[in-house]
Amino acid sequence: MAMQPFRFVRPRTLAEAKTLRAENDEASFLSGGHTLLPTIKQGLARPPILIDVTCIHGMSGISASESAVTICAATRHADVAASEIVQAKIPVLAGLAGSIGDRHVRNRGTIGGSLANNDPAADYPAAALGLGAMIVTDRREINADDYFTGLFETALEPDEIVTRIVFPIPDVAAYAKFRHPASRYSIAGVFIARTDGAVRVAVTGAGGQGVFRAQAFEQALTNDFRAEALDGLSIDPDTLLEDLIATKEYRAHLIHVMSRSAMGHPGTVQTYK
Ligand SMILES: Cc1cc2nc3c(=O)[nH]c(=O)nc-3n(C[C@H](O)[C@H](O)[C@H](O)COP(=O)(O)OP(=O)(O)OC[C@H]3O[C@@H](n4cnc5c(N)ncnc54)[C@H](O)[C@@H]3O)c2cc1C
Repeated sequence: MAMQPFRFVRPRTLAEAKTLRAENDEASFLSGGHTLLPTIKQGLARPPILIDVTCIHGMSGISASESAVTICAATRHADVAASEIVQAKIPVLAGLAGSIGDRHVRNRGTIGGSLANNDPAADYPAAALGLGAMIVTDRREINADDYFTGLFETALEPDEIVTRIVFPIPDVAAYAKFRHPASRYSIAGVFIARTDGAVRVAVTGAGGQGVFRAQAFEQALTNDFRAEALDGLSIDPDTLLEDLIATKEYRAHLIHVMSRSAMGHPGTVQTYK
């Protein structure tokens, strides 16, 4: 199918991007294009204007304070994976970025695009929810707990621009992902973080409503931060996704296995095919 013609604009400031968006309600923001362009090619979206956000001043780069790592929205997965700051402060986040897709995807895809898209099998949503990140936009700060609202749904307004993500630095964190052998998206991925004694467990790839927190697992690990504390616990399969790749019951099983794997390999990303 032929792509519909569209206008391409590349603003240098946030103000300019907002003005362009205000002029046309159908315009779409474009970052790495690794979700939006295939969608346009398939005729599933027909934005008349694409507003490229990657060259806006201040939209790329990584910095850190004593308690947090800040990643600007247009920072590519490859740059997060290679960042010495991220590797030193939150090594599992660098590993997670390095586990996304393949080299081509990592060299174009961005953290802001991934979080704005909120694919139920994407990796960054698990890190953002697991670490209790703050998603900062052109107009407000949104706590990760309030940000992910459903499959491909977020708290963002249609004209809202994600500008950066602030990740609190955990005491320890790990991610384990059972991935689709072709796309490398998660069939079930579990991100576990302990920060100031509180444990958060975020699951991607498996939830019927997208990424979610496994509260029973969090409670057990807050009381006893060992893999054995998860013995006998399970996720209700009725709340999970089922598709051609995996049944609900299989995903429930995988969540448990991935959780134990994450607990067994602190600071790392474990990937299983
Ligand atoms: C073959 C393949 C394999 C992949 N494998 C994985 C994987 O294993 N794990 C994984 O997590 N992901 C995977 N992805 C997805 C990849 O990570 C994409 O980068 C991501 O989905 C979208 O990021 P993007 O920068 O390309 O966004 P785009 O495609 O440019 O945009 C996506 C959506 O976000 C909006 N948007 C973009 N930036 C902003 C912003 N700053 N503010 C507000 N809205 C914005 C756009 O309007 C659009 O609706 C894969 C993609 C492909 C093509």
